[in-house]
Amino acid sequence: MSRVYNFSAGPSTLPLEVLKQAQAEMLDYGNSGMSITEMSHRTKTFMAVNDEANALLRELMNIPEDYAVLFVQGGASQQFAAVPLNLMKTGKADYIVTGNFAGKAQEEGMKYGEAKIVASSKDKNFTYIPDVDKIEFSADADYVHLTSNNTIFGSRFTKFPTTKAPLVADMSSNILSEEVDVSKFGVIYAGAQKNIAPAGVTIVIVRKDLLGNALPACPTMLNYAIHAKNDSLYNTPPCFSIYVSMLVFRWLKALGGVKAIQEINEYKAGLLYDFIDNSSLYKNYVNVKDRSIMNVPFVTGSEELDAKFVKEATANGFVSLKGHRLVGGMRASIYNAMPVEGVKALIEFMKKFELENK
Ligand SMILES: *Cc1c(COP(=O)(O)O)cnc(C)c1O
Repeated sequence: MSRVYNFSAGPSTLPLEVLKQAQAEMLDYGNSGMSITEMSHRTKTFMAVNDEANALLRELMNIPEDYAVLFVQGGASQQFAAVPLNLMKTGKADYIVTGNFAGKAQEEGMKYGEAKIVASSKDKNFTYIPDVDKIEFSADADYVHLTSNNTIFGSRFTKFPTTKAPLVADMSSNILSEEVDVSKFGVIYAGAQKNIAPAGVTIVIVRKDLLGNALPACPTMLNYAIHAKNDSLYNTPPCFSIYVSMLVFRWLKALGGVKAIQEINEYKAGLLYDFIDNSSLYKNYVNVKDRSIMNVPFVTGSEELDAKFVKEATANGFVSLKGHRLVGGMRASIYNAMPVEGVKALIEFMKKFELENK
């Protein structure tokens, strides 16, 4: 067996220990004589998995009692509609647009009311995060939406705005990567396939007082209150993804939790950015203080050389480094499950490539 270093932005690399455990339990989960993917979601066995995943996420993120944790389907993109359908009581919301997904969320919001762009970094191709203290929010917005980490452009909020309206954050690409004060948010949502589990499950953390205000047209399956009331078992949930989420949460807890992984993530990102900043070949264009510690885009300045880099990297076991088509160049996604050795090995490869291509 030879595993590559996988820098995919999503779905992305998972901890080897977790994959091994899932493999070992594949044919017979907990002496049930069947795999977790083959049993009813109403069995005690699966419900214990559902409960443990929920409890572990609460513990890891220090989620207060007055929040519901939901495991739903449809990906983060589905939440672009679910958020307005659940929260847009008076038909007005503010959006901070710092990237492609943030823009998509705002466009979807427009279908249900006035989704006003109160700040944007589009003027500089999303290479920075607007100063949150200078944003003028609407007095009567039902919520304020932002994207905490911009997966494609490699930027992140290091400070969140203080808002009168509930703050809603798409944390798909940096949930559990650093400590966050959940009590500052009305809703946090995240597709699991970046930092948690296989695709299929989406996490929604919602303050309970925000439940029960869904628009009349809100589909049952998008209604947070329905999922909260049914412990995410209103219908068949994505059982396997929830099970792997539980394994990843256990892995993270054993490692020391979010505080510990944050230190590792800052260390990994620091190594890579330091190398890029000191190299004469590679460049990262994101405002230094707004740089993501999960997604690191970089270019050589020549499209031809970028293509050569990606090709040679792949041949050397560093895969999925091609940048998003909106940015070009390369992008190294270094989520929680990417080991420090993976980043160090990538830097060694980058050094060698630079020497050979002066
Ligand atoms: C990947 C991603 C999405 C889209 O997620 P899907 O689960 O594919 O719908 C949305 N927002 C952010 C920040 C992402 O990184």
